[in-house]
Amino acid sequence: MSTLSQLYEEIALCQQCEIARHRTKVVPGEGAEDAEIMFVGEAPGWHEDQQGLPFVGPAGLYLNQLLTSIGLKRQQVYIANVIKCRPTGNRDPLPGEILACRKWLERQIELIHPKMIVTLGRYSMAMFFPGKSISKIHGTAQKRDNVIYYAMYHPAAGLHQQSLRHAIEEDMLKIPQLLAQAKSISETAQQPKQLNMFEV
Ligand code: URA
Repeated sequence: MSTLSQLYEEIALCQQCEIARHRTKVVPGEGAEDAEIMFVGEAPGWHEDQQGLPFVGPAGLYLNQLLTSIGLKRQQVYIANVIKCRPTGNRDPLPGEILACRKWLERQIELIHPKMIVTLGRYSMAMFFPGKSISKIHGTAQKRDNVIYYAMYHPAAGLHQQSLRHAIEEDMLKIPQLLAQAKSISETAQQPKQLNMFEV
């Protein structure tokens, strides 16, 4: 069994907050253990709760189209959420739920070790770019510890507000170049230190 499957088993046992008691299925995440890019959404909705998979409803279909626009397939990326159970009635996640679930996302990042993390929406952005505003930083990237973090609007925002679709689609198109940069950063970081001629 892969390490990721073991982690999913642990996540499935989690009962740390009330929403765990109301879920149909837990939604840990989906994708390759060696994915170079990880997308982090907010929380499962109705469709995700039914299927146990992230981004499989209307926002997911739009995310798939966005991925296709840059030549990526879902199987090549990793998709997770800030929280792993559906908040009842599709309400926003509560601070206590985000805090309780944080360790699972941290473990996923540790295991997958992505070169680039794309935040989808405000809650995910708040975790990686604390204190920032999505309308100001969407489409911008930050490099920290050899990982590129990139903020985008949530795909669902583009479904509800036509005016955001253009920004979302433009922001997506910047990913290939950033990912290429992220790969070269990580390759350089892994290069053994060049020995100076006089170094012993
Ligand atoms: N919205 C999210 O943030 N995550 C999902 O998995 C589905 C919709």
